[in-house]
Amino acid sequence: MKRRRFIRNGLGAAGAWSLAPGIRFDRSPSFPFAASGRSDQNPEDAARIPPHRPDPVPKQRPEAPTAPGITALVLGTAQDGGLPQPGCACGNCRRARRDPGFARKITSLALLDRTAGRYVLIEATPDIRPQMESAGRRLPGGGEGSAILPSGVILTHAHIGHYTGLMFFGYEAASTRRLPVWASASMNRFLRGNGPWSQLVKLENIDLRDISRDRAFSPTPGIEVTGFPVPHRDEFSDTLGLRIRGPRSRLLFIPDIQRWEEWERPIEEEVRGVDVALLDGTFFGPGELPGRDLREIGHPLIRDTLTRLAAVVSKNGPRVLFTHLNHGNPALRPESEERRRIKAAGFEVAEDGMEFPL
Ligand SMILES: [Zn+2]
Ligand SMILES: [Zn+2]
Ligand SMILES: [Zn+2]
Repeated sequence: MKRRRFIRNGLGAAGAWSLAPGIRFDRSPSFPFAASGRSDQNPEDAARIPPHRPDPVPKQRPEAPTAPGITALVLGTAQDGGLPQPGCACGNCRRARRDPGFARKITSLALLDRTAGRYVLIEATPDIRPQMESAGRRLPGGGEGSAILPSGVILTHAHIGHYTGLMFFGYEAASTRRLPVWASASMNRFLRGNGPWSQLVKLENIDLRDISRDRAFSPTPGIEVTGFPVPHRDEFSDTLGLRIRGPRSRLLFIPDIQRWEEWERPIEEEVRGVDVALLDGTFFGPGELPGRDLREIGHPLIRDTLTRLAAVVSKNGPRVLFTHLNHGNPALRPESEERRRIKAAGFEVAEDGMEFPL
């Protein structure tokens, strides 16, 4: 009985799913697919100021600005610690505190289906609250004042930036009812076996589903996701990369991995098979973590990825964008030499608020 109280106004996950589709279309400034370059203004702030106010509902629906379809929305691009990172006074963190447009949320994506009025979250980060607001605002009916929870969540691994946002689906917060959560069997064992996550399972706030290696599953109609293991510091769980396939295009998501050489699959081939690749861009080069040996920490260096994938990207190939940037990464600064090198090589730095058709 008591738990009922926490399903607020019947607006648990089930409430979110029952939205009537297609009442009006999101006209936030970043739609459709304003997906390159970094403006001075944080794209999320752009969507918020002026506040998103629904137009008076027209009798006849205007022509859709473009077929809404399914898209991947970038909700965050920073490494697990965020930007600014707590307790850090490096140049980038100081700048992020002065200029909200320079700050970034922790790496995450939403698979948005505007027609169905729902989204699937990829990663549950410590920034999940504003990230769910951002995703919900892009959906019909998701304007100011409403709240749309995801219809499911996909997780890559058990490092703090990638799963701890799950806590907001629990008893003290949204108290969802059997929200599907897809992760590897080892990640699911970790969640089942350790509090407070085990409580989410016990109270059936979340419903854990195993991602089978290299076998596609459909987290929402029209989308197929395939998980595959990648080498990483696997203290609590193994780590997955994801291939996401929509009706129109394919996206590769590998936010966290050891150097490319340590993976048995050639990254070139994985990237060749997709239209957009969002890849681990934690560090641009060596020397970005004073006092710590980068070789111990792992991660491919952006500098090396530019060389390794040069041929793939230059031949009218897929877009390759770096995500999961560490707070000290010089490529965060649009005016930096490192950013210039990325651009000159035909690569990009992913930005919060970018959207790709799927
Ligand atoms: Zn991470
Ligand atoms: Zn910093
Ligand atoms: Zn990690």
